[in-house]
Amino acid sequence: RAKELGTARNEIFVSGMDTQAVQRWQLETDLRLGLKHQEFRLYYQPIISLKTKKIAGFEALVRWQSSKRGFVSPGDFIPVAEETGLIVPLGKWILEEACRQVSDWHEKFPHISPLIMSVNLSGRQFAQPDLVKQIQDVLDGAKIDGDRIKLEITESMMMNDVESAIELLKRLKGLGLRISIDDFGTGYSSLSYLHRFPIDTLKVDRSFVGRMEEGKDNEKYIQIVRTIVSLGHNLDLDVIAEGLETESQVKILEDLNCEYGQGYFFSKPLSREDAEDLLVKNPEW
Ligand code: C2E
Ligand code: MG
Ligand code: MG
Ligand code: MG
Repeated sequence: RAKELGTARNEIFVSGMDTQAVQRWQLETDLRLGLKHQEFRLYYQPIISLKTKKIAGFEALVRWQSSKRGFVSPGDFIPVAEETGLIVPLGKWILEEACRQVSDWHEKFPHISPLIMSVNLSGRQFAQPDLVKQIQDVLDGAKIDGDRIKLEITESMMMNDVESAIELLKRLKGLGLRISIDDFGTGYSSLSYLHRFPIDTLKVDRSFVGRMEEGKDNEKYIQIVRTIVSLGHNLDLDVIAEGLETESQVKILEDLNCEYGQGYFFSKPLSREDAEDLLVKNPEW
């Protein structure tokens, strides 16, 4: 009886693995098709100055409306794009599109410039030997200065090989680019190295921000957020709080002198058209 069960379990396990591999392979195939058929769009989430309540910039976030699958969340397809290497052509398109958009908005809305566009960079892109040249070419193609673009990277991308990461970041800074550490506090990074990285901004992960008010440990999360904000300030960095959803969260971050906020309280990620409507009205929150 036990043996029977064991065998049955094994079969389920094996066929379960098969299904997973097949599903992944299908997703990869659809991703390739999606790239070819231009099924990707960028959405833009405003980043707000907590002091002036004005739009300081946007984070470009990729969206996939697959002809076969409908809407697929980046949390589901970015990891597969990363594993398969498809993130390289996709990431290049994302960078080009973001640069085109920032150049276009610069012309259409000169009174609100300079807007800064944040673009997420994946680990695989960061490891490309010709990354600096590629970005230089994209900037030239869009005829924009590097200081219009801020790259978001994660702690783990920098900690892999600290010395090479510092070198690469210096070369990117040489193009005028700014650098943010995304999801700060959730990854693996060594505080003893942080001051050596030529970075501009820390983004406090929304998992901390979201737990500041409710739950038994909420006071501790306020302390964690406070600690990250003062760490950033001690290192002369700007801080962006991610995932602000409520007025009281905004209030807490304002009281901590956090420079910027981003989240549903201000706005969800917007289509280009909706982002333009917002820029036309240029509201203050
Ligand atoms: P991220 O870079 O940390 O982006 C922030 C995510 O939080 C976005 O999810 C955004 O829609 C979401 N968000 C913003 N404000 C709020 C809020 O107030 N509440 C909640 N619950 N969520 C909020 P999204 O667009 O689904 O992207 C998820 C992740 O996928 C991103 O995390 C990023 O790691 C990755 N990703 C998205 N676009 C790109 C891209 O163009 N390139 C690369 N390499 N990765 C991307
Ligand atoms: Mg990001
Ligand atoms: Mg983030
Ligand atoms: Mg995050």
